Amino acid sequence: MREKLKNCQRIVVKAGTSILSDADGKISKVRIARLGRELLGLLGLKKQVVLVSSGAIACGMASFGLQKRPAEMRKLQACAAIGQGKLMHAYERFFSTRNIHTAQVLLTRDGLEARKRFLAARDTLEELLAMNALPIINENDTVATEEIAFGDNDILSVHAAHLISADLLILLSDVDGFYLTDGSRVREVDGLGEIDQNLVPHLNDVRKEKNVGGMKAKLEAAKVAMKLGIPLMLVSGGKNGILKDVIEGRDVGTLFVSSGEYKNSRKKWIAFSAERKGTLMVDDGAHDALVLKKKSLLPSGIRKIRGSFERGDVVEVALLSGQVFGRGIVRYSNKDIQRIAGSKSSEIEKILGFSGQHEAIHRNDMVLWA
Ligand code: GLU
Repeated sequence: MREKLKNCQRIVVKAGTSILSDADGKISKVRIARLGRELLGLLGLKKQVVLVSSGAIACGMASFGLQKRPAEMRKLQACAAIGQGKLMHAYERFFSTRNIHTAQVLLTRDGLEARKRFLAARDTLEELLAMNALPIINENDTVATEEIAFGDNDILSVHAAHLISADLLILLSDVDGFYLTDGSRVREVDGLGEIDQNLVPHLNDVRKEKNVGGMKAKLEAAKVAMKLGIPLMLVSGGKNGILKDVIEGRDVGTLFVSSGEYKNSRKKWIAFSAERKGTLMVDDGAHDALVLKKKSLLPSGIRKIRGSFERGDVVEVALLSGQVFGRGIVRYSNKDIQRIAGSKSSEIEKILGFSGQHEAIHRNDMVLWA
């Protein structure tokens, strides 16, 4: 797999706060410049690059001489608001002298839940790449707090990679891959099952990252990337020439190879980005028809409905026990489904007074976990 990495054209690089800051936690111009040179190396190979950068909070903290990360979320958000401009300024200073325009893109995960906004963000990023600009993404910390609390932009970077259909995501970390308790580096992870069975129980926690998120957040991000079909590489951001090493297929870091379950972009969005407005709980017969026979979901198999949704919304599909096993775009509102749940397709028109579709969720609009 590694030898194929040289063919990757679209690459998302994620830089966490720890690799951008000095030992005292302050964002360092020297480190920004080092990352800048790494990215220039990729751009020089005619790769399209999107950077996901943390560091806003650290910049904001430094402005106020704060040594310790504030505990209060609103203070962290305020620090991020102060620091984001300064962070961009540092990147802009480096890249403007190399004739590259940086472009600030602030995203939130729920901002990508509506398909319309997802496509708008995608169009903007496509346009920026066409203009040879360097998009620099961070979470919009004023309105969202997920990454501050959990992931230091790990998951956000997977969403960014999904957004632009990247063919590689590189997480720059302060560790050079995943290490097991026996001291060995995990070189490649080929399947989702491997993460839970072979990796998590033997993970060497001593080498964990300093900042929020740590290895757990990285593994969660890797799982999502694998499902989306995006290879993810975890490497050390402190090693000179690391991005080139990755592209040249050298034996560095840990590579998560994609299982590529969802090939179609709309299905990927349904599976990972879309907001869920409700749940359809189905009987075992419907579960088997969906999972084993790969059929669409018919109203006859629906037993309970939760939430309030309209035709075209994304809902979860669950067993009566509550166990969610899929998601899909529903073809009726919750009120209409309430009336036709359990009914045969031939009865729908009579009940509703109009002729809708037979399927509550069509196969093509559905993703299943099983
Ligand atoms: N968006 C945050 C930042 O740029 C993520 C990192 C963190 O929580 O420290 O600072």
